Amino acid sequence: MLTIDGSSGEGGGQILRTALALAIVTGKPFRIERIRAGREKPGLLRQHLAALKAAAEISGATVDGATLGAGSLSFRPGRVRPGEFTFAVGSAGSATLVLQTVLPALLTASATSRLILEGGTHNPAAPPFDFLARSFLPLINQMGPTVTAKLERPGFYPAGGGRFSVAIVPVSRLLPLEIQERGVIRAIRARAIVANLPRSIAEREANLTRRLLSLSEDSVTVEQIEGAQGPGNVVVIEIEAEHHTEVFTGFGAAGVRAETVATKAAREARSYIASGAPVGPYLADQLLIPIALAGAGRFRTGPLSRHTTTNIAVIRLFLEIDIDCVAEPGRIWTLTIARHARSRQ
Ligand code: AMP
Repeated sequence: MLTIDGSSGEGGGQILRTALALAIVTGKPFRIERIRAGREKPGLLRQHLAALKAAAEISGATVDGATLGAGSLSFRPGRVRPGEFTFAVGSAGSATLVLQTVLPALLTASATSRLILEGGTHNPAAPPFDFLARSFLPLINQMGPTVTAKLERPGFYPAGGGRFSVAIVPVSRLLPLEIQERGVIRAIRARAIVANLPRSIAEREANLTRRLLSLSEDSVTVEQIEGAQGPGNVVVIEIEAEHHTEVFTGFGAAGVRAETVATKAAREARSYIASGAPVGPYLADQLLIPIALAGAGRFRTGPLSRHTTTNIAVIRLFLEIDIDCVAEPGRIWTLTIARHARSRQ
């Protein structure tokens, strides 16, 4: 059985999620120790348990040690069972990270799936729903499957209570994906969103984002959304380029000024535009898994994040894959993914 040191690399929840995602697809069991050992609250949190339970449910896995706060566990997957599932985090923990765990296996499952995911949909340090819908899933769809996601109710930290559905039409084999150039930037749009908070917060954010990114009046909108269980505020900046769309976000929180939220999102967007790399830092770590499962692909991105290098290490444990990272001048890296020569024969 593979043994994984959960404190290595980025050392957070991602090692566990990537291991779960790849274990389900490959059928390889693993044991993970020192889970999130260096974090302030080490071990399994509720959101990691939710990802673990979801992975176990779709693969009929046997799990030892899945308790809140656990520092180690073992996971022995069975066969992937597509179908209808509801996965609830049970806190404001990110429901999009639960999707990140089970989606790879369902992309090449034997039948369609329909998932309902409940919990946080707009959490700091996790893919916001808008990133999934506008950036990540369109690229997955270029690889063959048809995945659509619909936000039913947003869930913000700390109240949670969000809900979205995902429909997955799988393929028998994922197609390779290449993103070498960004192409021209066709549009930049920004949305400042508030739920159960004064509209003036979103107006201040919209004004500042417009100035920081020199956007036109009609490419920036203010939205007041209904139905959220608690207060929430997010600035979403979408950069639509010829070959794909990137999404950058800033999250409001108690005690954080609206100007700080807008500046954070705009700074990330500006840094992406200035880098010239087509694939942004978040997309880079998340795309590696489907491309590795396709067995071939290539993309160019900015300096590799710890999440990206950690995913590379975990992927190498589960799959017979070469991931070649070559630095170019100008702080751009080309990542080339290919099957090992011997497994290609
Ligand atoms: P972890 O920190 O281990 O829980 O992993 C966080 C995951 O969320 C990684 O896959 C990140 O790429 C992703 N992520 C974090 N922040 C964002 C963001 N603003 N947009 C998209 N994805 C994000």
